[in-house]
Amino acid sequence: MSPPDPELTWLCGQPKTNGEPCRMRADLGSPDCRIHGPAPVDTLRLRMWDMHRRGIAAGRELLAREQAQAAREAERAARWRLTERGLQVVQFGRYAYVWDGPPLKLGDRCLLPGNWLVADPMEAEVTGFGTDYDGTLAQVLRKIEEEATSDR
Ligand SMILES: [Zn+2]
Repeated sequence: MSPPDPELTWLCGQPKTNGEPCRMRADLGSPDCRIHGPAPVDTLRLRMWDMHRRGIAAGRELLAREQAQAAREAERAARWRLTERGLQVVQFGRYAYVWDGPPLKLGDRCLLPGNWLVADPMEAEVTGFGTDYDGTLAQVLRKIEEEATSDR
């Protein structure tokens, strides 16, 4: 193993019991201090910016990755919607559908149209609301009303 590149390391800096900053070395590969635990996220970001500024490839790469991730999240948030054409957007597991009727609640059971994978309509439970999917959403066929349990 090669010795750690001093350019890529920093001191933990979290206060020791005597109030002095901790001098344990950390780096992006192992940013946790053995005494003080994980470095605060702000510290990591600061290190990435610093490396970026100094033209250090590892820092640049990590920062770029983090920024790409933030951009993806922002894009996803911008696409996120709870209604589509005025209809409620409902999640059934990983997939979202639109529902034309009184608002569904979590746990409601519905009949969904078949798809390319499963030709027959299928039952599924509402697991959430809204979507960031930008394609066309299929429509829930109907809500499955709870059957009366009493047999009177
Ligand atoms: Zn420490």
